[in-house]
Amino acid sequence: LHTDRKHHHQHYLHLYYWVKLLSLSFLVVPHFSLPGGYEEYSSSRAAGMNGNGPTKLVDPLEDPVPGVGTYEDFNTIDWVREKSKDRDRHREITNKSRQSTVALLHSVSDAFSGWLLMLLVGLMSGALAGGIDIAAHWLTDMKGGVCLIGFWFNHEHCCWTSNETTFQERDRCPQWQSWAELITGTSEGAFAYIVNYLMYIFWALLFSFLAVTLVRAFAPYACGSGIPEIKTILSGFIIRGYLGKWTLIIKTITLVLAVSSGLSLGKEGPLVHVACCCANILCHLFTKYRKNEAKRREVLSAAAAVGVSVAFGAPIGGVLFSLEEVSYYFPLKTLWRSFFAALVAAFTLRSINPFGNSRLVLFYVEFHAPWHLVELAPFILLGIFGGLWGALFIRANIAWCRRRKSTRLGHYPVIEVLVVAALTAVLAFPNSYTRMSGAELISELFNDCSLLDSSQLCGYKQVCSDRPAGKGLYTALWQLALALVFKMLITVITFGMKVPSGLFIPSMLAYYNHDWFIFKGWCSPGADCITPGLYAMVGAAACLGGVTRMTVSLVVIMFELTGGLEYIVPLMAATMTSKWVADAFGREGIYEAHIRLNGYPFLEPKEEFEHSSLTVDVMRPRRSDPALAVLTQEGMTVGEVEALVESTHYSGFPVVVSKESQRLVGFALRRDLLISIDNARKRQEGIVSASQVVFTEHAPSQAPDAPPPLRLRGIMDLSPFTVTDHTPMDITVDIFRKLGLRQCLVTHNGRLLGIITKKDILKHMAQIANRDPDSILFN
Ligand code: ADP
Repeated sequence: LHTDRKHHHQHYLHLYYWVKLLSLSFLVVPHFSLPGGYEEYSSSRAAGMNGNGPTKLVDPLEDPVPGVGTYEDFNTIDWVREKSKDRDRHREITNKSRQSTVALLHSVSDAFSGWLLMLLVGLMSGALAGGIDIAAHWLTDMKGGVCLIGFWFNHEHCCWTSNETTFQERDRCPQWQSWAELITGTSEGAFAYIVNYLMYIFWALLFSFLAVTLVRAFAPYACGSGIPEIKTILSGFIIRGYLGKWTLIIKTITLVLAVSSGLSLGKEGPLVHVACCCANILCHLFTKYRKNEAKRREVLSAAAAVGVSVAFGAPIGGVLFSLEEVSYYFPLKTLWRSFFAALVAAFTLRSINPFGNSRLVLFYVEFHAPWHLVELAPFILLGIFGGLWGALFIRANIAWCRRRKSTRLGHYPVIEVLVVAALTAVLAFPNSYTRMSGAELISELFNDCSLLDSSQLCGYKQVCSDRPAGKGLYTALWQLALALVFKMLITVITFGMKVPSGLFIPSMLAYYNHDWFIFKGWCSPGADCITPGLYAMVGAAACLGGVTRMTVSLVVIMFELTGGLEYIVPLMAATMTSKWVADAFGREGIYEAHIRLNGYPFLEPKEEFEHSSLTVDVMRPRRSDPALAVLTQEGMTVGEVEALVESTHYSGFPVVVSKESQRLVGFALRRDLLISIDNARKRQEGIVSASQVVFTEHAPSQAPDAPPPLRLRGIMDLSPFTVTDHTPMDITVDIFRKLGLRQCLVTHNGRLLGIITKKDILKHMAQIANRDPDSILFN
């Protein structure tokens, strides 16, 4: 009987491990991918998607300085133009630098400014991330009680100074009082429990209410994870105020509040956004970056790396994340800069030491057991289930967000948040695992008790200390399983997604594998030869891989995060399978799916264009449209040009030799035209509506009494990109993607025929995929 009981006990022990580790792999995902579903709604609102018009919510403080070369809001930048502008500027500085020492110094400082900027971005983001970590920790503990020697101490710090606690019981000290102790004077009994319960709910509601109202009142762009938008911005889209100072301030504050309120969301995605805001703001210190959208995007790419670096304590993973996932244009120079910035940020965070453990990462674990070749099979299995789950997650999440947009649900974001927060708090409190914050729980779960069993360290870890006694074990098992189910369900509501039930099965299988004779050969008697923590890690990577479709960066982040350098191969196998499996159900990762959901004009570099259409099918004007609006290089008056510009909304006009010949000369941007005409009139050079507009090199012969001509050759792009009407669309798409074009002109037999813009291509692609072409917004 005794051995039977023991066996039974053992059985539960293993089960307990697996539940624990499963919870872990599940928990890591929200920490990475998205921060909270409610925000999705406001994010689309903020971007003006619900017919409110995009300009309404734009931060007035971020208004652009008008001038030649800046872009309007919700427009696409022209990479080629920006890069050539930068080259010109650079050439000028180099030429000047030969003339005087001051100019030489200027040129040196100009060359150095990129690195200086990176240093500043790293310092600022690292400091902010440290601050966020500390504040979130403090506010999370605030839900449970308060420190009497100073309310600004969190639970752990409060008890550090206490002499009355032992190492094992370092969480209990008289200085730290739960709300019940403070109000009723006792910490025992049902009444005290209820007081604590109510206070917990109260704080959770307060924090989430503050978070959502702050976002709504001050910075609508501060919601959501921000990664889909940053991806779009990096690909060359302008969303003014998205990376502005208000967004930064509000996002930093509300991130702390949202994390502390206990909502099932992670702070890592938003940290990328915070780092990008820092970079964007710091760019204003340097003319080189302030004035050039392409150069600024190089800095933002590096900032994305910084964000991940401080979020996970994974600098290299951050650089790779930027390269693989968010960046559009990533030259080697940006790689080095990202590397440097990530290093600075990691260093700053390490100096702040927000976790008090002298480590960069929260989830540091050390497994010592090697893995066996046979274990690759379960790893791959984990990958398959991770992929399946990822595909399911994306579908469910998108379906939920659609519903939120289309139904009345989306009209009450504050109520939605409050309901979800209340539900989370009400259900979370009774269970000690869900009561703590997500990050705390993960680090607790990651702790591989089987290895620490004998060591003293295990004593203070709750998960472990619940373990030994028979009864305690059942309770712990039960609680953990409940925690897992709860976390799944609440994340369903918070994210609007379905449960990863598939994940259970492989892990259960792996659990039974443990007793298989096949492993017996390797195991020294009595020792665990399988490291459950490893499976959790691999499972987590597989889930993340399925959701985000990252590979290289994910593996690097995982091993930087956990310190499990020996387990690269299992991680690689799992992420690769997970990507394959998930890709079979649709190529898009969660970020791309959200980009499409929100209708951002993003030309996906990963997707291939396989349709056999020709450029003539996509170009404008179509047969029914009004003819192409063109300027002639001479013969038009200022009044005519103004009338043409005013009567249309196009962002640029091709310049031709004459209306009859339609021979192409160049391309002039609407904005430049308006500004030049305006400036010329202001300077009163005799320019009136009847003056001729001239794009040629030599002034045409005019009647002697005619007003002086307005010469605009300077603003004309003399080398616009052209394709012919018979260029296959896949080549045109490639040109747009690789060069980052905004528009391209189409010719036929050397005559100008039409124009094609990035949005035209996106609409065409949407049409091919049977999607609504008008879902591409910001027209
Ligand atoms: P976007 O496509 O980014 O909104 P525009 O506002 O310049 O860019 O163009 C709007 C639409 O008008 C596009 O479909 C484009 O092909 C077309 N278009 C652009 N310029 C001209 C022009 N000069 N004459 C006629 N149609 C144009």
